[in-house]
Amino acid sequence: MNLNFYPGPSKLYPSVEGYLLDAYRSGILSMNHRSGAFMEMLSETIGAFKEKLAIPTDYEVYFTSSATECWEIITQSLVEKGSLHLYNGAFGQKWYEYAKRLNSGCVAYPFDLEEVPDIKETSLFQPADLLCLTHNETSNGTALPEQIIKSFRELFSGIIAIDATSSMGGVELPWQSADVWFASLQKCFGLPSGMGVMVVSPKAIQKAEQKGDRNYYNSLLFIRENFLKNQTPHTPNILGIYLLGKVMQEVEPIERIGARIQVRAEGWYSCFEKLSIPALVQNPEVRSQTVIVLQGLESFIQKIKKNALAQGIIIGNGYGKWKSTTLRIANFPAISGKDIESLKDLLNHSI
Ligand SMILES: *Cc1c(COP(=O)(O)O)cnc(C)c1O
Repeated sequence: MNLNFYPGPSKLYPSVEGYLLDAYRSGILSMNHRSGAFMEMLSETIGAFKEKLAIPTDYEVYFTSSATECWEIITQSLVEKGSLHLYNGAFGQKWYEYAKRLNSGCVAYPFDLEEVPDIKETSLFQPADLLCLTHNETSNGTALPEQIIKSFRELFSGIIAIDATSSMGGVELPWQSADVWFASLQKCFGLPSGMGVMVVSPKAIQKAEQKGDRNYYNSLLFIRENFLKNQTPHTPNILGIYLLGKVMQEVEPIERIGARIQVRAEGWYSCFEKLSIPALVQNPEVRSQTVIVLQGLESFIQKIKKNALAQGIIIGNGYGKWKSTTLRIANFPAISGKDIESLKDLLNHSI
């Protein structure tokens, strides 16, 4: 069995093997999704999800097909004027490009890798009614510091949407500082791909009602009407919902998972320092805890990849413009301490 450090699809929680069999045997996978048994399972999954992730009780949780779908839902359902996109990497940029196709009133505000986008000029937000942020930029291993998200909340009166695809489930999130948070399951949740999750504030629901979009099968209002009845707008990923429910019942509260992830992230960055391998991100303030990126000459990166492959260890390739000069290491909760020791050994021997 390979050791997998790819930042998505990533290593599954080992218990998923048993849950897959349980799901098959329980009969839930061939049950009608309007049945009482399904509705109960959906409601239990959302209950466990909200409890373990410490989501405010008045925020609602819906399941979608992917994080990418959430990009579109947000533009279709929550933007009347335009959206402002702050990003420093490939995923934030892609979100901007998807949004622009649906609404020409999008403004891009790219910032540098090492930079904290500390905006004090409220005029910059005009006339956007939606601010789009990427909490954890999976392509380059940066993350937005919590105080910056809080400061945007104070400066900007519109809706704040945050892509937390590679951090939700691994770190504590300041839920109240934004209105829409979304992720997909193949990153920090240690689950198979093919399902997204959206966490929505009362303020966002109010905005959706004000806009009143009901044109799409995935209009936020239509999704919501269904979820309020423990139903879904289309035949959902029943297996994904089942597995998420089981894993959420099993995992520790996010406070404890987050503390462990933080210790491990510090361990990774100090390991690089000892080995004199530079991290791509030098500013500790904006370093990700869940996606750790190291950089080096192409020949060095190739050598590590080759050594890893020989030992059955999968490391994430660089992404976009950092494709051949960086490596990405997932620091997700499903990865064990033993896995990490194996990869550290390999790096030690590759120097
Ligand atoms: C992986 C990822 C996505 C895309 O997720 P899908 O499930 O493929 O839609 C979006 N944003 C970020 C930050 C990601 O890491």
